[in-house]
Amino acid sequence: MKVIREIKKMQELSLRLKRAGKSIGFVPTMGYLHEGHLSLMRQAKLENDVSIISIFVNPLQFGSKEDLKKYPRDFKRDYRLAKNVGVDVLFFPSNKEMYKEQFLSEVYVRELSKILCGESRPEHFKGVTTVVAKLFNIVLPDFAYFGQKDLQQVRILEQLARDLNFPLKIKILPIIREPDGLAMSSRNKYLSKEDRQDAAILYRSLKEARHIILTGTRQGSAVISTIKRLISTIKSAKIEYVEIVDAHNLRRVDELKGEIAILLAAMIKKVRLIDNIIMSV
Ligand code: AMP
Repeated sequence: MKVIREIKKMQELSLRLKRAGKSIGFVPTMGYLHEGHLSLMRQAKLENDVSIISIFVNPLQFGSKEDLKKYPRDFKRDYRLAKNVGVDVLFFPSNKEMYKEQFLSEVYVRELSKILCGESRPEHFKGVTTVVAKLFNIVLPDFAYFGQKDLQQVRILEQLARDLNFPLKIKILPIIREPDGLAMSSRNKYLSKEDRQDAAILYRSLKEARHIILTGTRQGSAVISTIKRLISTIKSAKIEYVEIVDAHNLRRVDELKGEIAILLAAMIKKVRLIDNIIMSV
């Protein structure tokens, strides 16, 4: 596995690959890799001639009170995991390399960036879309792989790719979970043993929601109340939002029909976690 730290070198390699007719599968990450990331990498490898991943903890997508400094990092471990999966190229730029002095541009997807997680993290998705637009221009992928774990992010990126005509296809892969259902996340590392157990309530409540919908409930507000009631039985949990939306355009729905997504965000003590399920009603 080749490690590239410079934008110019990465872009030149991608251009050479494209000229040679090779397809590029790309997985952007912030590192501290887990099975969720690895599943994306395996798919990128399977479906393309060359697999490229990036590891970059993007300062633009962290709010001033958020965890940028203490975001977990372990390059050696990440290198080993990516290499074992068979990734061909690891792009690992520094902050300085990505954001040169006088970096003035922003990429922003209106409306979709304001709702759900965007309400409490107003700058977050602008940071994501700005860095992903840069990464797409640097890596020049044919296919880019993202997890359903960050469903709002991936809908915003699909919009971005459509609006700005990036010549690539976005692929979404399922959420990889721990045995008790907790969605894998680099941030799970922050949870104490007790909080880690408490965190399982998030997916348990989504499963209960799915169950009551499958057994006939069609009113979104009733489903949301059930989820909130379940989560509030856990003392360490503080709900940020629970919403039911159209799985494609993320508009709120109350009468449940078609493909819907139930999304939630909650703090378990000081750790902010998100989760979602998609289902057809
Ligand atoms: P991150 O490093 O958190 O920015 O995530 C990089 C990519 O991995 C994003 O596309 C995430 O949606 C995806 N991802 C993170 N956690 C999971 C998971 N548990 N299952 C599947 N994909 C995930």
